[in-house]
Amino acid sequence: MENELLLTLVICRLIILIPGLPIDPMDLLGVDGKLSVDPNNVEPASLDFGLLTRSQPLAVFHPNSAQDVAQLVKAAYTSNRWLPVSARGHGHSIKGQAQTKNGVVIQMSRSKEVGMLDSVRKYPPQPRVWSRERYMDVWGGELWIDVLNSSLEYGLAPKSWTDYLYLSVGGTLSNAGISGQTFNHGPQISNVHELDVVIGKGELLTCSENQNPELFHAVLGGLGQFGIITRARISLEPAPQRVRWIRVLYSDFSAFTGDQEHLISLHAQPGCQKFDYVEGFVIVDEGLVNNWRSSFFSPPNPVKISSFVATGGVLYCLEIAKNYHETTAETIDQEVESLLKKLNFISTSVFATDLLYMDFLDRVHKSELNLRSKGLWEVPHPWLNLFIPKSKIAEFDKGVFKGILGNRTSGPILIYPMNKDKWEQRSSVMMPDEGVFYLVAFLRSVSDNGEETQSLEYLTDQNRQILRYCDEAGINVKQYLPHYTMQQEWMDHFGSKWDWFCEMKREFDPKHILATGQQIFTPNL
Ligand code: FAD
Repeated sequence: MENELLLTLVICRLIILIPGLPIDPMDLLGVDGKLSVDPNNVEPASLDFGLLTRSQPLAVFHPNSAQDVAQLVKAAYTSNRWLPVSARGHGHSIKGQAQTKNGVVIQMSRSKEVGMLDSVRKYPPQPRVWSRERYMDVWGGELWIDVLNSSLEYGLAPKSWTDYLYLSVGGTLSNAGISGQTFNHGPQISNVHELDVVIGKGELLTCSENQNPELFHAVLGGLGQFGIITRARISLEPAPQRVRWIRVLYSDFSAFTGDQEHLISLHAQPGCQKFDYVEGFVIVDEGLVNNWRSSFFSPPNPVKISSFVATGGVLYCLEIAKNYHETTAETIDQEVESLLKKLNFISTSVFATDLLYMDFLDRVHKSELNLRSKGLWEVPHPWLNLFIPKSKIAEFDKGVFKGILGNRTSGPILIYPMNKDKWEQRSSVMMPDEGVFYLVAFLRSVSDNGEETQSLEYLTDQNRQILRYCDEAGINVKQYLPHYTMQQEWMDHFGSKWDWFCEMKREFDPKHILATGQQIFTPNL
């Protein structure tokens, strides 16, 4: 049965041409899920959030279980034709990382967007919370918003987040999963106890620190190269009820980064009061006030940003949050005040709000709905995400925020530091060689009419200029959510980890069939 997958694909096509053909192609493949060649399924799987690349798969597979995923990958692995297979979480990559040309996309999320919610379909396992042990088991394609909703039913929640929750567990664990909690809890990949993974030979393996540890570490941050995550066991903590969310402004970069670094250093002092979330962003133009990170500045805080800075100047916004329970509500003001006292922001620039924990975590979704209503969500996104060593962040500010950017940005620019000791050095993710490093994220959009934002060509070129500048200035950045097209660039990215990365690939995906959209390895027949 070497070509069962190819044969199934042919039958799927025949069924479209000859409706009523009395054969179920899934029987041939031995799966419960469904393989679809319907353009309504194939087209969305050819695209992603970036809207910058397009690769059409032969078919989209909707699995019902980990066994289905294993069966499909095994069929691809044993096929005598090279047949790539890519897991697609929620397709929120920027440069086609979850796409695969002439292969099969395994649609892991329960997404309606990719069609398929027919009445006969069964679904992958629902999240299961182990409240005494404080962890939960979730399907690899589960969206973080659903993970949150399930855990909150038990008064528990994951510790480490991304800013946006409509991303899949497998998708963020294949990168790192970072947000303002990372300084304290580490990235999402540091908050996973165990995984079930279908490796590129079609075997389903459980891995953890103690069981198949090499696979466990390789898969975390592994860009989908070694296997498809079908289950993750995620660490939980008691869920806070409310959040005090504060923004303060700086015109002085070193005061801004000094305060950010002070705040993230508090994690190392047990018992010491600290904020639970530390992020920040750069404001080079007032246009930012109208974009998706800035709803905060709207009334009842009707303050003009320009009142804080001379024309043409750059402002920095520190964004911090403190979680609390209603039972301790009376002390929250004092706690926040005493933490703020030690900071050096512009004293008249404190913006504060108080909201439910759930609403805080899901904050970006509100902006998404707003942008969608204006037709500004499904547009090209030439994003650039960089990890920058602390020792070079001031130079980066001079050269990029105050230099290359000019006075328009076409989207938010996030900047926040993280502690490297909260990252597992044995994982696949690459970060700078310093104890503290920053994320700088240029989250640009290109509007359809081309008036509200700069053009795609302009922004793409600016991203190149930023990378060139870093190279020439000797700033050893690492791309987060990396995108390269040449193997030499990947070798540079992984540095001394490259040989190990290749060894893991040989062991777990010898035919190089997995996640080919990352463009790291070429086919191995
Ligand atoms: P996809 O785009 O579907 O897949 C990404 C990669 O992972 C592909 O190579 C794919 O093959 C692989 N993959 C997917 N599922 C699996 C699986 N189950 N097993 C193995 N491999 C798999 N990131 C952050 O860290 N922090 C943020 O705050 C953040 N905010 C974001 C906000 C928005 C609006 C967007 C669009 C992205 C954001 N990201 C953030 C980036 C995001 O984490 C990554 O793009 C992530 O890969 C998206 O998840 P996804 O489920 O859409 O993955």
